[in-house]
Amino acid sequence: MTLRKLIAGNWKMHGSLSVLTEIDTIAAAAKGRDVDVAICPPFTLIARATGRGVAIGAQDCHAAAKGAHTGCVSAAMLVEAGAAYCIVGHSERRADNFETDADVKAKADAVIGAGMTAILCVGETVEQRRAGQAVEVVEAQLAGSLPASRDNLAIAYEPVWAIGTGLVPSNADVAEMHAAIRAVVGPDVRILYGGSVKPSNAAELLHVANVDGALVGGASLTAADFVPIIEAVSVR
Ligand code: PEP
Repeated sequence: MTLRKLIAGNWKMHGSLSVLTEIDTIAAAAKGRDVDVAICPPFTLIARATGRGVAIGAQDCHAAAKGAHTGCVSAAMLVEAGAAYCIVGHSERRADNFETDADVKAKADAVIGAGMTAILCVGETVEQRRAGQAVEVVEAQLAGSLPASRDNLAIAYEPVWAIGTGLVPSNADVAEMHAAIRAVVGPDVRILYGGSVKPSNAAELLHVANVDGALVGGASLTAADFVPIIEAVSVR
């Protein structure tokens, strides 16, 4: 079965009100295409980014519904701001904020429970790949972090060593990992590839078996880079 592809942009801690017009350009280019498109800007831009013709997501949320968690945002708050997606378990949060698989699972459950789609990130470090442990590391991350529901869930395979480096795994390595993830999550969950996706490599990556879309960091910041990645979905 072919799943409708999802191209999601992760703006990380970039962006401002002045660049929201990029989303308008992306929306115009994506209109009518057989692909889902989402942009995940910083929290502060979510409400202002909605209603422009592209689905909006968040980059993280707290697992709890409310409480004494200074500086945090709940899934329901994100929905109220207009978010339809939420990334959980990005490797930068696992590294910077010491998030465990159990934390990621709790966040994914909260995201799906609030009615959003969770984009759950997994991926190995370069040391783990060199040691031949990439697949077992990702399988362990999935075992510890998959939410209770497979509905409204996407997995993003993001090798840590490929994020922001310009490096990408071989097609064979992407295919091997996505097949391993497919075996765990079943046929209906989209499996995105993320890590240095660019206009120059998107078509090739997007047509590897079991690649149902992309999670894009740096190349999602401008329509000039992001639109060709969306268009690459239909390049054969
Ligand atoms: C990411 O951080 O999710 C990512 C894939 O970044 P980049 O595309 O810049 O490697």
